[in-house]
This record gives sequence, C-alpha cells and structure tokens, in this order.
Amino acid sequence: MAAPIVYCKCGKKTKIRTSWRDPNPSRRFYGCSGFNIIPIQLRLIVVFSLWYDPPICKRASDVIPGLLRRVNRLEVENKQFETGLKSRAQSRILATRLIVELVLVMAILLTKFGDNEKEAIVLELGM
Ligand SMILES: [Zn+2]
Repeated sequence: MAAPIVYCKCGKKTKIRTSWRDPNPSRRFYGCSGFNIIPIQLRLIVVFSLWYDPPICKRASDVIPGLLRRVNRLEVENKQFETGLKSRAQSRILATRLIVELVLVMAILLTKFGDNEKEAIVLELGM
C-alpha cells in the first residue's frame, strides 16, 4: 500500500526519510522535501516531521546506535586499510620497474663493450 501524501506546514510534499538519531534509529518519518534547501539556522523552526513507522522497541533503540557507530568505525578503518594497500602496491610496482630498467641497462652495456670493459663494469657495480 502506498504511503499517503503528507504536506509540510510550508506547503511542500513530505518525503519518507529515515532517522538515524539515537532515540529512533532506523525509524522512518515524513520529512519536509525542502529540508535540504532550508538554511541551517531555520531548520529547527520550520522542520516538519511526523512518524511513518511506529516506535521501535527499547532493546532495538539501545542496540542499533552502537551497531551504527561500529559500522562507521569499521568503514573508516577499511578505507585506511585500502589506502595503505594501494601505496604498498605502488611501491612494489616502482621497485619492479627499477629492477627491470637496471637489467635492461646491464644488458645494453654488456652487449656494447668488449670483455675487458665488461669485467670493469661488473666490478664497478659490485656484481
Ligand atoms: Zn517544509
């Protein structure tokens, strides 16, 4: 069944939104569709809300906020972990490139010079 159309006292249609505040986590309400364009200073004055869902049980209102904080914390930690992985992967790619370039330079040097010069290059590079 479709939700009834509810109008805010400012005249705009309301939208069904979800509260994530501690006393009513995940409880839906009718909120003014113009809420986001109302200046922050006026929001408390003109805000209109009517609950769409019945009140949630005490146990849920005690448990859900803690779970939400935990999810948020884990999302932050995951983002930091992914950033760390990317930088380690970039370091590995750079190291691999350096090794490949060194091998190529060695190959070029060893094919262009005679045996005596090759020995001098190898000794100079400590190989
Ligand atoms: Zn309104």
